[in-house]
Amino acid sequence: QLSNRLKSITNYLPEQPLFADIGSDHAYLPCYVCLHDSKARAIAGEINQGPYQRAYEQVEKWNLSDRIHVRQGDGLSVLEPNEAEQIVIAGMGGTLITNILENGKEKLAGVNRIIAQPNINARYIRKWFHAHSFVLSAEEVMEEDGRFYEILIADYQPDLVTKEITEKEYYFGPFNLQDKNQAFIKKWEHVLERKKQIIAQMKNASQPDEEKIAEFEQQMNWLKEVLKNE
Ligand code: SAM
Repeated sequence: QLSNRLKSITNYLPEQPLFADIGSDHAYLPCYVCLHDSKARAIAGEINQGPYQRAYEQVEKWNLSDRIHVRQGDGLSVLEPNEAEQIVIAGMGGTLITNILENGKEKLAGVNRIIAQPNINARYIRKWFHAHSFVLSAEEVMEEDGRFYEILIADYQPDLVTKEITEKEYYFGPFNLQDKNQAFIKKWEHVLERKKQIIAQMKNASQPDEEKIAEFEQQMNWLKEVLKNE
């Protein structure tokens, strides 16, 4: 039984995908996709031995080793250029996902879509997309088992002249701001409460970090603004 989070991600893969799932752990996502689409093919990448082993066993269990290659390695290093058309990187922080993209960007030749599912710090990924001709085409915020997840979908469009994105849009996501669903509101209400507490603590420190406080206060103001009419 695939989690709703991983199921939502699969909605953004095309039919008959040729994709890589980086940080695949049990390889649940590629197995699910390949079991539902007989023409789907995937590479499951894992850096750590335990999860790599689990992914390998899962693929064997479902007799999918002819269509899912499980490889051990760091980020996109498991790929050859032009081997995958879509990339999924899910269940990690936005900083790690951004580093994986940055460190492996020469492996993105032939990739037309990246689906990223950060647990936090989605803004770094949006900025990386913008700087590397991956144009956001959809976003989602969802809640599962009391946790909030963001899903970002970006398509490679090097010829498109994109409009400027503001810091506020990077923070919340331009699509999310236009369509504030329940999970979006709940997530950011939660963050607003936390942010208020953290700012109060920071101000009480013996040597307050004024720059960080100003950054957090800016974010708090955005949060109040965005949640004002909800
Ligand atoms: N993608 C799955 C999901 O969303 O349910 C698993 C998420 S799990 C929390 C993160 C996985 O990423 C772990 O199995 C970890 O070993 C792997 N990982 C972390 N850094 C990695 C990297 N640089 N390259 C490949 N895998 C990595």
